[in-house]
Amino acid sequence: MPLLTASYTFAQITPGSKEVEAVYPDAYALYLDLHKNPELSAHETQTAAKLADRFRGLGYEVTEHVGGTGVVALLRNGEGPTVMLRTELDALPVEEKTGLPYASKVRAKDDFGRDVPVAHACGHDLHMAALVSTAAIMAHSRNTWHGTLMLIGQPAEETIGGAKMMIDDGVFKRFPKPDVGVAMHVDNLLPAGQVGITPGIYNTNADSLRITIYGKGGHGAAPHTTIDPIVIAARTIMALQTITSREVKPGEMAVITVGYIQAGTKNNIIPDHAELGLTVRTFKDDIRKQILAAIARITKAEAEAGGAPREPLIEHYEGTDLVYNDPALAQRLRAPLEAVLGRKNVVTTEPILSSEDYAYFIEQGVPSLYFSLGGADPEKYAQAMATGVMLPSNHSPLFAPDADPALHTGIVAEVAVLRNLLQGTAEELRKTTTP
Ligand SMILES: [Zn+2]
Ligand SMILES: [Zn+2]
Repeated sequence: MPLLTASYTFAQITPGSKEVEAVYPDAYALYLDLHKNPELSAHETQTAAKLADRFRGLGYEVTEHVGGTGVVALLRNGEGPTVMLRTELDALPVEEKTGLPYASKVRAKDDFGRDVPVAHACGHDLHMAALVSTAAIMAHSRNTWHGTLMLIGQPAEETIGGAKMMIDDGVFKRFPKPDVGVAMHVDNLLPAGQVGITPGIYNTNADSLRITIYGKGGHGAAPHTTIDPIVIAARTIMALQTITSREVKPGEMAVITVGYIQAGTKNNIIPDHAELGLTVRTFKDDIRKQILAAIARITKAEAEAGGAPREPLIEHYEGTDLVYNDPALAQRLRAPLEAVLGRKNVVTTEPILSSEDYAYFIEQGVPSLYFSLGGADPEKYAQAMATGVMLPSNHSPLFAPDADPALHTGIVAEVAVLRNLLQGTAEELRKTTTP
């Protein structure tokens, strides 16, 4: 028996290797097309169709409209584990101000009927272009792996709803449930060419609250005949700041931001209600519970102190758990990433302060690695490090990943990870995850 196995038929994939260069022109063309034609959360019909067409052309079994606009593509390649690779499909209501020749000029109606600008300000276009190229490489190199590759195009990540919509629509019942899942996200926290691995906690629990404070409206010149909800709201906002500073143990991660306050229409009218929008971020479940309880307590007490005619309405309209990277899986996948990208290009990163609904997939019993893909122009990154002036973050109108090196690195990283996971049996793979 020759010792060389099928996996040696192909030279090791690297950012400059032939396997990548063969798919790269199409990857870049797709990136530009997606970038110029972004679609809002849960409205990604053209985007999903573009991905589905390409997967079909590559020989995948494709199912569309899973959980709204979601796409599932399967490539069955003999016995072995099932591994999921997921991308998001959606863009954001942000006006792109990058000045790039391919900047988005798209406007669309949002779910409230408002005319809004739309842009891929979170880099999901880059994730899609990488995933489609990875899909092509995997389809063209079936002798380098075995098992089932499951590609997921998930809608509505930005509104923290799409993963749950796909699960509720039976994504792990109608299709094989993956033994392991993988996803990546581009950001400006690392230079293009690098990837970041965060074992364990990767990002934060996120909770969105809408608080309506009730008062009694009237003439601005006769405050004594009213109960002013704006004053109650102002006191409430200040009191909420004492939760993280006075109630949560120093050193624990906790963020409470009041992102908007809406009340009133005119300077001489005291309105009858005020609305606050909050986001709460935490790493730990007990801190999360403590903060949500404190917000309710303070909000109700301030309303009572202000003589509000009724208790405030506190709506918890969105929430997602943090993404937890399986530590054993993170450890296992470091070596193949180092082998293809070079040791210095695989770094250990701190948990990030944003959130993600990928957690819903993990909670279905799919141990996962969610890794970071460097997106910063290496020169600008070095400058930012030297001056301390941060580069634009995801969701900024100025967010623009250094597409060429980031896309190359993303494709190589995904292929390396998938080839490592799609070996042996499902049982063997599951045994290498954290029990
Ligand atoms: Zn985002
Ligand atoms: Zn994102």
